[in-house]
Amino acid sequence: MIVSHHKPHHRNYSRKIMTAVRLDGKACAADLEERLKQRISKCGVEPHLAVVIVGDDPASHVYVRNKIRSCERLGIKSTHIELPEDTSQEEVAKTIISLNNDDSLHGILIQSPLPSHMNEESLTDLIDPSKDVDGFHPVNLGRIVQGRLDGMIPCTPAGVMEMLRWAEVEMTGKKAVVIGRSFNVGMPQALLLAAKGADATVTIVHSRTADAKAECLAADIVIAAVGRPEMVQADWIKPGAIVVDVGINRVDDSSRERGWRLAGDVHPDVEGVASLLSPVPGGVGPMTVAMLMANTVTSAESQHS
Ligand code: NAP
Repeated sequence: MIVSHHKPHHRNYSRKIMTAVRLDGKACAADLEERLKQRISKCGVEPHLAVVIVGDDPASHVYVRNKIRSCERLGIKSTHIELPEDTSQEEVAKTIISLNNDDSLHGILIQSPLPSHMNEESLTDLIDPSKDVDGFHPVNLGRIVQGRLDGMIPCTPAGVMEMLRWAEVEMTGKKAVVIGRSFNVGMPQALLLAAKGADATVTIVHSRTADAKAECLAADIVIAAVGRPEMVQADWIKPGAIVVDVGINRVDDSSRERGWRLAGDVHPDVEGVASLLSPVPGGVGPMTVAMLMANTVTSAESQHS
C-alpha cells in the first residue's frame, strides 16, 4: 500500500520493512499551478501557446488534449494546429516559421512523434529558442551544460527536479543514478542533478551498462527513464532510497476492459524498499504538463518585461 501524504517530507528511514511515501506529482503540479496563476495575473499579457500535431497517433492526441486543458485551467491561450499525416516536411517547416514570426505567441510545441517521413531534429532546429517551450532546441539543451538554468529546460526532467525540491529531498553529495540517456529525458536529467545547487554525484545507466542493478543498488536517488515496463526490481534498490519513475508503458492486461494498463519503469514491489516513490500514473506525468505551462509563462514574462 502506498501511503499518501499531501506534501511528503523525506524522513530518515532505518526500519527494515518500510512502505514508501508517495511522491505525489498531481499534488506538486497543483501547487505549481497556483503559483503560475499568480505569475500570469502579474504578467501584463495573456501567455499564448501553439501546439502543432501531425497525423492521428491516438496517444499523442490524448497528450495534446491534456496540455490544452491545462492551458484552459490556468488562463493561458492555446492555439491547436492539426495537420494531416501526409503533410510534407516543408509544410511543417513553413508552419513553424510563421509561428516564430507571430508576436502574439510565446510558446511553440510540436507534438512528438512526427510521422516517420519527417526529420524531427531539423524541424526542432527551426523553432525560435525563446519560444521553444519543450526545451529541445540545441541552444536550450546547450545552456544546461553551461549551468544557465533560467531558460527553457525540457519539461520532464525539470518536473522531476521540481518534485524532488517540493518533497525537500536533500540532493547535495548524494549518489544519483539516471537510467536512460535520451536527449529529452535522461541526459538533461543527469545534468540537472549534477548542476550547482542540486549537487548530486551522478551515474548514467544505459543499454550498454555492464551491471545496471549494481549501479542502482549504490544509489540514494534513482530516476528511471527507460521505457521498459517494471524493469527496476525491488532488489535493485537500496533500502530507504528515493525512486522516481518516469516510465509510461502500455502493457497488455486482459483483466481490464480496454485490454491494457499503464506501467512505469519501476516494479510496484519497490514500494516496500524505497522511502519515497513516484506513482504511475499521477507522478511525473502531471509534472511534465505543469512544467510546459511554466515554460510558457516564463517565455511570456521575458518577452513582455
Ligand atoms: P528513449 O528515447 O527510448 O530512451 C530510453 C533510454 O533507455 C535509452 O537511453 C536507452 O539506452 C536506455 N535503455 C534501454 N534499454 C535499457 C536497458 N535494458 N538498460 C539500461 N538502459 C536501457 O525513451 P525516453 O523518451 O527517454 O523515455 C523513457 C520513458 O519515459 C518511456 O517510458 C517514456 O514513455 C517515458 N516518458 C515519460 C514522460 C512523462 O511525462 N512522464 C515524458 C517522456 C518520456 P541507449 O541510449 O543505450 O539505447
